[in-house]
Amino acid sequence: MNIHEYQAKAVLKEFGVPVSRGVPILDAANAEAAARELPGPLWVVKSQIHAGGRGKGKFKEASAGDKGGVRLAKSIDEVKTFAKQMLGATLVTIQTGPAGKQVNRLYIEDGSDIEKEFYLSMLVDRATSRIAFVVSTEGGMDIEEVAHKTPEKIVTFSVDPATGIMPLHGRAVAQALGLKGDLAKQAEKVTGALYKAFVAKDMSMLEINPLIVTKQGEIKALDAKISFDSNSLYRHPDIMALRDETEEDAKEIEASKYDLAYIALDGDIGCMVNGAGLAMATMDIIKLYGSEPANFLDVGGGASKEKVTAAFKIITADPKVKGILVNIFGGIMKCDVIAEGVIAAVKEVGLQVPLVVRLEGTNVDLGKKIIRESGLNVIPADDLDDAAQKIVTAVKKA
Ligand code: GDP
Ligand code: MG
Repeated sequence: MNIHEYQAKAVLKEFGVPVSRGVPILDAANAEAAARELPGPLWVVKSQIHAGGRGKGKFKEASAGDKGGVRLAKSIDEVKTFAKQMLGATLVTIQTGPAGKQVNRLYIEDGSDIEKEFYLSMLVDRATSRIAFVVSTEGGMDIEEVAHKTPEKIVTFSVDPATGIMPLHGRAVAQALGLKGDLAKQAEKVTGALYKAFVAKDMSMLEINPLIVTKQGEIKALDAKISFDSNSLYRHPDIMALRDETEEDAKEIEASKYDLAYIALDGDIGCMVNGAGLAMATMDIIKLYGSEPANFLDVGGGASKEKVTAAFKIITADPKVKGILVNIFGGIMKCDVIAEGVIAAVKEVGLQVPLVVRLEGTNVDLGKKIIRESGLNVIPADDLDDAAQKIVTAVKKA
């Protein structure tokens, strides 16, 4: 799960990470009051969307002006003007895709005088099973480009969970950033605070770009992006409360209500599969035969008829879907239950695209019989290979 920048900064502040003061707003009418809470003479008006690259982004509407999604304002009047222009407009950045994202929240922040911009991120490194730091003096810009062109400017190291964060890690960050004296001390403190926050809140990724040194000699997180491990949210009700569903894929939200593991993708073949491994294999074989999956969907081991119906509805509601492949191995789950779920769903929502069903395992004969006798236009398949070829051919023909 992702959260907005202003929420991320509030979380980090709890752990002692220095951030600027700011006020979030949902309505341009509150821009003046928000700006008056801050000292000035510089304010930053920041679009709050779940995507980076906002500063260099462009609004679709000409009325929003051409200054990007993060704007420096030199007066309260300017804050008001920017707020009116930006709220409700659609911001396109390198991370939003061409459709962009509507800006429904702004963060009005106390402007900083920047001396230097650094990059710092943390993530769970699966190769070492440790939390890793990625640090670079080249902050503020596109870190992928830095990694590509000047990889020597990126320093990475990981923390042994047996010892946890230690002074040497803070010193490694300070050294990588070329900091000395008091600034090095501040960087060491920030490193410890970030690590504590990361572990305590079960983050999977934390990116601060830029981490700055101000002209007044302070280190500060000027931007913050956090992703949390969704599997841990049950123990973080405070984080769960920060969820902004308007930023998420509507189909994924619907799927989460039924406890379905669903991820929307760009292809045109909708997949309904049980078991993550089988779902991955199904996606691979669709690609092998020359098409692309429209989604990853694991209905789980013990799915009920209701769950299967919900899953089918989510797939058919996607206008990109030109064909559906149901691939179920009946282990815990029985094939006849799946067959009934599919039929109930088809009867409810109708079937506008070809549907291939491959069933195998417990009660497979009964499952196949139910589908055969349903009178519905379902293409049966015997194995995974056969099923993938049939759906790819059917979609190409349609
Ligand atoms: P992003 O473009 O989505 O990564 O948004 P950021 O929060 O990183 O802001 C983009 C850029 O705006 C930063 O890299 C800074 O150069 C600039 N910026 C943001 N806040 C301030 C500020 O308080 N003062 C100044 N001078 N520049 C800022
Ligand atoms: Mg940034």
